[in-house]
Amino acid sequence: MSQKNKALFIIFGGTGDLAQRKLYPALYRLYKKEYLSEHFAVIGTARREWSDEYYQDVVRDAIQDIADSDDHAKAFASHFRYQSHNVKDTEHYHTLKRLADSLDEEYQLEGNRIFYLSMSPSFFGTITSHLKEQKLVTDNGFNRVVIEKPFGTDYESSKELNDEINASFDEDQLYRIDHYLGKEMVQTILALRFANRLFTDSWNASSIDNIQITLSEDLGVEERGEYYDKTGALKDMVQNHVMQVVALLTMNPPKSFTMEDVRDQKIHILKALKEPDMSDVSSPEFIRGQYAESEDGSLIAYREEDKVDTESMTDTFVAGKLTINTDEWRDVPVYIRTGKRLKEKMSRVDVVWKKTDNELFDESPTHLTIHLGPKEGVELFLNDKKIGPGMDLTPLPLRSLRSEETIEQSPEAYEKLILDVLIGDETHFAHWGEVAESWKFVDAIKKAWKESDQPIPLYPANSMGPKEAFDLLEKDGRKWVWNP
Ligand code: NAD
Repeated sequence: MSQKNKALFIIFGGTGDLAQRKLYPALYRLYKKEYLSEHFAVIGTARREWSDEYYQDVVRDAIQDIADSDDHAKAFASHFRYQSHNVKDTEHYHTLKRLADSLDEEYQLEGNRIFYLSMSPSFFGTITSHLKEQKLVTDNGFNRVVIEKPFGTDYESSKELNDEINASFDEDQLYRIDHYLGKEMVQTILALRFANRLFTDSWNASSIDNIQITLSEDLGVEERGEYYDKTGALKDMVQNHVMQVVALLTMNPPKSFTMEDVRDQKIHILKALKEPDMSDVSSPEFIRGQYAESEDGSLIAYREEDKVDTESMTDTFVAGKLTINTDEWRDVPVYIRTGKRLKEKMSRVDVVWKKTDNELFDESPTHLTIHLGPKEGVELFLNDKKIGPGMDLTPLPLRSLRSEETIEQSPEAYEKLILDVLIGDETHFAHWGEVAESWKFVDAIKKAWKESDQPIPLYPANSMGPKEAFDLLEKDGRKWVWNP
């Protein structure tokens, strides 16, 4: 495989946080596993004036914890060149093209190019049109564009952004990263659902009572206050990651794992989402929250964070009830919650079955927990007979959690996704139709919150969100399975 993976990566935003924290380590892991060999090169570009030597030092620093040896890190970093570049300056694209063409020849890359836009989306349209106009796009190899979130700030802006990019690149050349889709355990959802008769036969409205998705973070906004205060949890987490997980949990089996088949099934679900009922302002189907100081005073309130408006109404927490208007799912609520400064960092799915129809036992409903991260694995909770006389029940947890070593050795999301870009597999990326439907859904919630004159509910840092998040399930006679 390695010999086939020939490509020049041009990373816009090569000095940035994402490049250093995620992209260089991911590229190094691919190099270590020989998915990348001698035939690859990277041009990092950003505004700063850096020399190649300095850039290569930065790349080596970024991989120091995972490098096999100094020599191996040096050999890897020798494939990197730096080009100072202002994305708005046409002349710079000519310089970039000369460098790209010479690296193509030096490393025999056969015209394959991956343009990685690791910068503010406000530049995406400018960059992609210059790439086309100044002929950085080759005729002989593949040309792929990788885009980071956020893809727009609402449906309108995402459509505008998409139209701008589509003026120069087709949808099948675009790889919109949603790093959740690169997570091993998120991909595992499809295997669990579609490779086990136990689940294929009962993963439906006649057997399942409800599904719960929690993506909780224990950290606050850290140094991202400026970005986050304009964004909030609904746009930062629900529009992309949560909606993708919802689609994977409820989509019909695709005919195959090709991009087209998977995308069609996901879009079918996203299009069928009922607009949430927000008419009862005191208990709408989507509620928001913002963290206040922790009860013990050790964690500050969101509004006290650096670069956050002291009167901010930004949501640092969202919980909601989704209804999927299809015959398969109409009666099965999907409850979601995500937020910052919650008790624990955890991404998990809980699928709760209905009780049996017989009245022989006072049983607890069977449930399946899929741990997406940082804990990874699956737990199925059944009912067992208590040893001894009578027919009393006792819980029977069947647990398969991945060891730290296994997790450590599993490919990381960016590594998997960059490899997919290299081999041209678009299955695990967010396609325009999915992005568009998710924005429409999220826009309706945002609009309702804006129009309501309700204050944003506060929750103490280091809790599991505001009371309203618990009421949401209680009024349906349910509760969150995970309640740390
Ligand atoms: P960053 O601010 O650390 O880096 C931005 C990069 O863009 C820098 O290299 C900067 O020099 C360059 N740049 C800015 N203006 C420029 C111009 N006019 N011409 C040329 N270069 C210019 O940002 P980041 O955290 O690395 O994020 C990059 C993108 O990835 C953003 O769209 C962000 O939303 C997204 N993203 C980041 C993360 C993350 O963990 N950092 C996670 C998800 C998505």
